[in-house]
Amino acid sequence: MDDCIFCKIIRGDFGTEFLYENEYLVVFKDINPKAKTHLLVVPKVHVESLNELEDEKLMAELIKGVKAVTKKLGIKSYRVHINTGKEEGQEVFHLHIHVLSNSDI
Ligand code: AMP
Repeated sequence: MDDCIFCKIIRGDFGTEFLYENEYLVVFKDINPKAKTHLLVVPKVHVESLNELEDEKLMAELIKGVKAVTKKLGIKSYRVHINTGKEEGQEVFHLHIHVLSNSDI
């Protein structure tokens, strides 16, 4: 998607550092962190929100991505959330999982 900020990040347009990457997803730091550590787990394919996510394999891969990046960074305690729909705070319409932790990385 040409006008999607997360698609641009995934393409490397801004040189964003990926803390974890595989064939399905990338993980980068949220630009406006709401906790000591605030990561975004983002699928490489453009899916607008959880409502549009039909691919069960990708659902599993996103959760596996959360586990992989937290393990890689040594984060043992964290919380995840997915804002879905603008009334519930979704600002970027490219599916992403927020990972927040009071641990430093
Ligand atoms: P949401 O409100 O669930 O759509 O979350 C979107 C998140 O993306 C917010 O927490 C923003 O701070 C974050 N964000 C927006 N633009 C960027 C960017 N260029 N790099 C990193 N995070 C971003």
